[in-house]
Amino acid sequence: MGYVKRIGPVLLTVCLTLLLNGCGETDDGYTDKQLFAMDTYVLLRIGGENTAALETAAEKIGMLETELTGRDADGTGGAARLNASGGQEVAVGEELFGLLEASAAYSEQTGGAFDITTYPLTKLWGFGTAGRIPDDAEIAEALTQVGYQKLRLDPERRTAVLTDGAQIDLGAIAKGYAAETVCGIFTDYGIESALINLGGNIFVIGSKLDGSPWRIGVADPEDTRETVGVLSARDTAVVTSGSYQRYFEQGGTRYHHILDPVTGRPADNGLVSVTVICDDAVWADALSTALFVMGEEKPVGFWRETGGFEMILIRDDRQVLLTPALEDSFEITAGSGYRVEVVS
Ligand code: AMP
Ligand code: MG
Repeated sequence: MGYVKRIGPVLLTVCLTLLLNGCGETDDGYTDKQLFAMDTYVLLRIGGENTAALETAAEKIGMLETELTGRDADGTGGAARLNASGGQEVAVGEELFGLLEASAAYSEQTGGAFDITTYPLTKLWGFGTAGRIPDDAEIAEALTQVGYQKLRLDPERRTAVLTDGAQIDLGAIAKGYAAETVCGIFTDYGIESALINLGGNIFVIGSKLDGSPWRIGVADPEDTRETVGVLSARDTAVVTSGSYQRYFEQGGTRYHHILDPVTGRPADNGLVSVTVICDDAVWADALSTALFVMGEEKPVGFWRETGGFEMILIRDDRQVLLTPALEDSFEITAGSGYRVEVVS
């Protein structure tokens, strides 16, 4: 029996020094707000002062946390109500419905690698509680409840039905959606420089106040206090999925939280971290999870065919694969022991 470990997946060049739920000014002209929500540490950093923007954003994150978590035992949010519906048709709020539609599209686009109906497997493996290795029969049984086609959506009535005992878990896109939503709030408030970090789901607005790009550290999967490299970025989402973010160990083997919907087991394809950079934070979040499931070879073909995003793949042999557009903006950490290869 293991203990599921959770850590912030991406280290920022800024330190998280404020108290949780604190709001405070930094020396260099930013105002920070930190909170714990969606099962992770959240940092909202804006250029200048704007308490109303930070409070509005924090409140919205709290609302999304309730609405989007399928794990809420009280069942107050839309996702939890859907999970408790026992196959009945359920009326769904506009935001959740939009995310369910997006999820279905992402599943199609990624050939099923991204699949929010993996929740029965997540529960079986005990991610979110103490971890446990299920036996083959248990996995086979849970797999009968998995498959994105089991989520039926009716856009006209804005209703959803889960068939065959399926249940959903939006853990792979909820933080990306929250980051995008906060970005919208900040933009409405006229904020031109900001960094939003929900446990490694990062969105940067504009540049830093001095005009230089934001600098985002990509965590070393072997030692998350260190970075493999630092990415310079403006006006984009930067999202990392990694096998080091949530896992338990048993018998010297690591069992992590990103599940292959085909095998019902943690994806084991030679990758330890995937970072996706694109201006759509929800797609970036879905993609980082999906590319991790695809493994080290398929993502490059997927990137060539689909385009519209950049990626940093880190293999378990310390090879870092970059898409060409990142060649100048990603700086490997000297002495990290990782090697960079640019894919084409
Ligand atoms: P992320 O950290 O964004 O890669 O999301 C991982 C989380 O999404 C897991 O902790 C599960 O809750 C859920 N999940 C696991 N495997 C998948 C998958 N193949 N597709 C969609 N969601 C998944
Ligand atoms: Mg994700």
